[in-house]
Amino acid sequence: MYSSKAYSAAGETAPLAVSTISRRDPAENDVQMDILFCGICHSDLHQVRNEWKSVMPTVYPCVPGHEIVGRVARVGSGVKKFKAGDIAAVGCVVDSDRTCPECKSGLEQFCPNLTLTYNFPDKHTGGVTYGGYSDSIVVDERFVLKVPSGLDLAGAAPLLCAGITTYSPLKHWGVTKGKKVGVVGLGGLGHMGVKIAHALGAHVVVFTTSPKKKDDALRLGADEVVVSSSANEMQKHMSSFDFILDAVSADHDINAYIQLLRRDGNLTLVGAPSKPLAVAAFGLLFGRRSLSGSPIGGLPETQEMLDFCGKHKITADVEVIPIQKVNEAYDRLLKSDVKYRFSIDMASLKSA
Ligand code: NAP
Ligand code: ZN
Repeated sequence: MYSSKAYSAAGETAPLAVSTISRRDPAENDVQMDILFCGICHSDLHQVRNEWKSVMPTVYPCVPGHEIVGRVARVGSGVKKFKAGDIAAVGCVVDSDRTCPECKSGLEQFCPNLTLTYNFPDKHTGGVTYGGYSDSIVVDERFVLKVPSGLDLAGAAPLLCAGITTYSPLKHWGVTKGKKVGVVGLGGLGHMGVKIAHALGAHVVVFTTSPKKKDDALRLGADEVVVSSSANEMQKHMSSFDFILDAVSADHDINAYIQLLRRDGNLTLVGAPSKPLAVAAFGLLFGRRSLSGSPIGGLPETQEMLDFCGKHKITADVEVIPIQKVNEAYDRLLKSDVKYRFSIDMASLKSA
């Protein structure tokens, strides 16, 4: 084992603060990375504050972070894909059983024995996994991804969660040129959804509660922007969408969006509010519409998404911050005040 510097939360009301954690020395198939950038996902905030206690209770101390880009520091003797000095990335999954039908299909996100990057039982240390708000991480090479050259690394980090979480359902639901796609909530996930749906050729409509984000939405690739508090603007889009991606982090009325789907249209939730959302049956019955959810993505699709973003020069729009500003960033995230993802410059941890 070796020591790694990290930012962790000691309890659900405690701020994140500097701490020291233990990481395993790299085994045969492991890659040890020096972390360069880590995105701040709203899931980090939900988890740190134990807002998902009924599904995934938080074990403290909690080191969040699953949008990780770093430089390979050393590798185990069996590692083939990476060597010291390479730029590499780690997302939300760091292990799975590799033998179940889901893993065999490259859908590790559905493996019944998967290990998430933080707050999950760690088979190696016996404790829980610690995420990317740290200077170093050790991960089996199977769960380490290649970052296409030419992408800004601070902006590439959020692809590892916000990118794949939006790419996967857009692909699954057949979003292509000619489809009308809605994106609800212009935050970290939402703005990646807009960029990716636009690159896939769709007609993209953003739904936002923040009128001041209108110009940005258009710049990011939206064809139209609707301020969701305007009943009149909402009405214009009734029964017209092939697909709507809902990336809202808090309680909201999803029925207002279900009504906007055309026959057989689908609304997929990627947002994970802590409380159940109310669904009106008739919105689904009329038009045979469907409501689904989608979690992150598997390893092959995550690499496919990274390569797609490399080809289309897509990264997140980031506000790069030192780790010392992480608590302030969480407060701003709760006010929907980020353009459009915080990315922590992990070099700042040296002086913490
Ligand atoms: P974020 O950056 O905070 O964005 C959330 C956006 O939702 C805000 O920017 C805001 O957009 C909108 N919003 C916030 N509060 C709202 C309210 N009360 N009513 C209506 N709209 C509201 O968060 P994120 O990192 O994108 O994450 C979004 C959600 O996805 C979180 O719940 C997160 O845990 C979840 N998530 C799920 C997965 C998965 O695998 N499915 C992966 C990652 C994250 P506007 O200002 O435009 O209205
Ligand atoms: Zn995330």
